[in-house]
Amino acid sequence: MAAIRFDVVTVFPGIFGAVFEAGVVGRAIARGLVELEAHDLRAFTHDRHRQVDDLPYGGGPGMVIKPEPVFEAIEAVRAQNRGPVILMEPWGEPFNQTLARELAAEPGVVIVCGRYEGVDDRVRETLADREISIGDYVLSGGELPAMVVIDAVARLVPGVLGDQESLAGDSFAADLLGHPQYTRPAEFRGLRVPDVLLSGNHREIEAWRRARARERTHARAGSLGSQGEQS
Ligand code: SAH
Repeated sequence: MAAIRFDVVTVFPGIFGAVFEAGVVGRAIARGLVELEAHDLRAFTHDRHRQVDDLPYGGGPGMVIKPEPVFEAIEAVRAQNRGPVILMEPWGEPFNQTLARELAAEPGVVIVCGRYEGVDDRVRETLADREISIGDYVLSGGELPAMVVIDAVARLVPGVLGDQESLAGDSFAADLLGHPQYTRPAEFRGLRVPDVLLSGNHREIEAWRRARARERTHARAGSLGSQGEQS
């Protein structure tokens, strides 16, 4: 059985394919560690035109996602996913590494992607366990935000990253941001890799990395909040 299962409710299920075929998460899906299914909201409509949106009550521009197909989609998904239902919305709680860790501990996550002017608020009132925003800007749909959440959560699931070291060294994993990384060649267009990294002296390399990570962290002070690992 997979370690975590993501069910996404969306008007554009097709756009999740290519993103999650590639890289670390794609490999985790191929190995059966992570399950991901995108559900077409239109499949849960019953009219001839498969309409998922309608005019806003009270007037105003644009369209609003109708409640019935979203309710039906979530009810259908519930049979295979008992995890929290998350509504992607720009006013939600800010997504960060702490929240990613919380979700990675769940057996599953159900994500509802809005479009147009948003989703009928009865979905938020009665079905959503939390509302999450990926930042203070407005995108045209919840699909990119859902992909961001899925990627960040999936790579925290034990076994998804081959080398657990690479998790420990990540930004936000501890109370420090990541240190600078270099690869070959040692000199490129006159730009040299710091000598200490070529020294083979692991104690000095470790000290250099911590110092650079500390500099980076202080330069970005405030952006980390209290996200550092407690354990
Ligand atoms: N009229 C709404 C914006 C709708 S944007 C408002 O003013 O708040 C359409 C959809 O895109 C939203 O329902 C949501 O699912 C998604 N979306 C847009 N920006 C987002 C963000 N920063 N974080 C998460 N989801 C976002």
